Parts: sequence; structure tokens; C-alpha cells
Amino acid sequence: MKPGVPTQKSGYDYDVVIAGTGCAGLSLAVRLARSEALSSWNILLIDQQKKNGNDRTWCFWEAGRGYFESIVRHRWSLADVMTADAHIHLHFDPYEYKMIRSGDFYAYCKQILQQAREQNPSRKIDIWYEPVTKILDKETHAEVHTSHHTIRCRFTFSSLPRNIPQDKPVHFLWQHFQGWLIRAVTPVFDASRMVLMDFRVPQQQATAFMYVLPVNTHEALIEYTVFSKQLLPPEVYEACIQQYIQKNYPDLCYDILEKEQGKIPMTDYIFPQTDKHVIYIGTSGGQTKGSTGYTFSFIQQHSETILHALEQGNSPNTSHHPRKNFYRYYDRLLLHVLSESLYPGDKLFADLFDKNPTDKVIRFLIEQSSFGEDISIILSLPKKPFLKAALDTWKENSNR
Ligand SMILES: Cc1cc2nc3c(=O)[nH]c(=O)nc-3n(C[C@H](O)[C@H](O)[C@H](O)COP(=O)(O)OP(=O)(O)OC[C@H]3O[C@@H](n4cnc5c(N)ncnc54)[C@H](O)[C@@H]3O)c2cc1C
Repeated sequence: MKPGVPTQKSGYDYDVVIAGTGCAGLSLAVRLARSEALSSWNILLIDQQKKNGNDRTWCFWEAGRGYFESIVRHRWSLADVMTADAHIHLHFDPYEYKMIRSGDFYAYCKQILQQAREQNPSRKIDIWYEPVTKILDKETHAEVHTSHHTIRCRFTFSSLPRNIPQDKPVHFLWQHFQGWLIRAVTPVFDASRMVLMDFRVPQQQATAFMYVLPVNTHEALIEYTVFSKQLLPPEVYEACIQQYIQKNYPDLCYDILEKEQGKIPMTDYIFPQTDKHVIYIGTSGGQTKGSTGYTFSFIQQHSETILHALEQGNSPNTSHHPRKNFYRYYDRLLLHVLSESLYPGDKLFADLFDKNPTDKVIRFLIEQSSFGEDISIILSLPKKPFLKAALDTWKENSNR
């Protein structure tokens, strides 16, 4: 046991309550369950619904083995970015673009929780399925209210959705998409290459691209993605995917095995994180990168930071990234350029990948770049729109 970790029970129902058993809730739960230093802590997870199936597919860049390596379904080292004028070949080395299906993730995490229970039967690791109605930060603890119970705990970690106040001057776009996992009758896909962004699709007066993830020669997830303020009617995504398949694989016979759709907020709004005993995680904890929507790997980093803080007996409400403010600023500029249409999105992403070594761009996107790398990437982008964005955001700041 490390110093500072409280071991005595002091009237809590559970030491930790995790509200929401999606990506962030389970990523944290498995780490807490496996921690030796916290092996006396009782954990309660609460969600309003049981999630077992594939409601989403997570992809992310990672070098080497990661925490969820054993459930990685597919990985790519090669990719393409296409615009009307350019075809850019990418080699991600030393990174891989890894794919995890949420159904595998939910099952794997619950299996780890079950193993932890079996290893230490006196410890409580429970999952309840009921809606959380209220979470309160009290002087000495947190209090979670559900439709049936009130639970007192040392800390609550919540990934429940939080609203962005309408009166705040923030940049906001939806990244919205529909994807089809198709199985073709003939072998048409190259599973060693994925299409990161193919902009040769209807742009919807915004930024739109097709994202193609082939998992074998017959099967691929084909996803039409748009960055814009307004969502589209479902039939528009469907028509775009159908046209894309027809154009790129003429007369292909295929079955649609699964459909996924979703929307991810792209914003520079900073969710307040001021409570002592209630800590927000996941998208609600600001782990979605404003300019790209990528969240999975930031959730993993945040979960590790929380785990280490708890193991050291420190407050888990810590800012974990010394350079986070820089990345927030870059995200803000990029969001401003996109949302104000200061430069076409397809050209912007093509410039980013064409004018810089791919591994450097990935480090920048996953927020592991050096300051020097940031500067060289920013200098490679078109000056006029970014200077205008810098000036506009400076003015917005002065008016806040
Ligand atoms: C379809 C889709 C695909 C995505 N793909 C990627 C990707 O490829 N790469 C990437 O990095 N990011 C991706 N994202 C973004 C992000 O990784 C996911 O949204 C991720 O699931 C966010 O994790 P989370 O824990 O914050 O939220 P969630 O996983 O949505 O979990 C929140 C949980 O809270 C529960 N809940 C909500 N309200 C209540 C309540 N009142 N009481 C109890 N429980 C409640 C919900 O049931 C849910 O289980 C994707 C998002 C979507 C929607």
C-alpha cells in the first residue's frame, strides 16, 4: 500500500461511484479494479442502460502495445487522403491506426471486473442499471441520486452528458456521421490500407469526407462524415454512401451487416471542473479534442492520471497535461477557420498531411508533439486564414 491511500472505511456506501459505463466509465473502472494500492476500495458503476452490442467503432493512433491491445480488431500502417486535386499516401510508422469495436470493449471490461470480484470476494464491484438523476458535491464526499437510491461515496466520476450553456461565446461544430459495415460478394478491399479522408464527396456547404476502414478483402466500414453546425436527414448520409460505393466499386453486390451513426461535439468550450469530489470524465470531462473529435486515447491518458493520483493519495481532480492550453488554442484556431469557412476544410487537411512528415502530424493530433514540432506544423499551414483566426479569437477573448 502506498502512503496517503486511505484504507479505513468511513461511512461511505462505496469508495467510488462511476456514473456512466461507456468508454470513459469502463476505462477507469478496469484500472481501479486492477490496482493493488486500491484493492480495498469498493466500486459501484451505474448506467441507465445495459450496453453489450456494437454501438460504435473506436479508432486511434498508438505506437507499440496499448492497454486494450488484446481486443484490437484491426490495425493499419498505410492510409490515403484524397481531394479533387491531390492523393496523399500516408505511412503511420511508428504509429498504427487501431480499431476497437465497442461490443468487444464492453465485454472485455466487464470480464476484468468479474475477475477482480473473484480474486477478492470481500470487495464490492457492482453494476446497477438505473438512471442517475442528480450528483452532488458535498463538503466531505459526493452523493449520487438515482431513480431508486442515494449513494454516498468518496468520489464520483461522471461521464453523463453535460450541456454547453447557450450564452457562452464558443466555437461549436458537430462531427456527424453514418457508417455502413458492408460485406461484398467479391474481394475488392485491400485490408492493409485505410482511407482516412476522401473529400471527393458532397461537401454540404461545410467539410465532409468519406472514411473507409477495410478489415478484410470482403468487408469494410464506410462512413460519411460531416463537420457542420447542422445535422442532416438520415437519407442524405445514406445516399452519399451509396453513391460512393457505386462510384468506387461499380456494380458491387454487397450486404449491409451493421449501421452506425453518431455525432461528436467539436468545441473549444471548457467544461468547468471545480468540484472536489465529483470529477467529470470522457466527453463531459473535456476529453474530446475540439478540432478532430478524437476522444478514445485522451480518455485512456485521463484514466491513467486519475489512477495515479488516487494511488498516491492525491486529489483526482488534476490537470494532467502541462501543454494542454497550447493544444486548446490550436484547436480553437482550427475550429474558427472551419466554422467561419476561412479556408476550405479539404485543402486544410490535405496541406497538413502533405507538407509535414506523417509521424509528426500524428504526434500533433494526439497531443504528444514538441513545441518545435507545433511551430513547424503551424508554419506549414496557410498564413492568411490562421492569422485572421488568431486576430478574431484575440478579439473574442477581449470581449469575454
Ligand atoms: C458512433 C461513434 C463513433 C466514435 N468513434 C470514435 C473514434 O473512432 N475515435 C475516437 O477517439 N472517438 C470516437 N468517438 C467519440 C468518443 O470516443 C465516444 O463518444 C466515447 O464513447 C465517449 O466516451 P464517454 O464515456 O464520454 O461517453 P459514452 O461512451 O457515451 O458513455 C456515457 C454513458 O453514460 C450513460 N448515461 C447517460 N445519461 C445517463 C443517466 N442519466 N444515468 C445513467 N447513465 C447515463 C450512457 O448510457 C453511456 O453509457 C465516437 C463517438 C461515436 C458516437
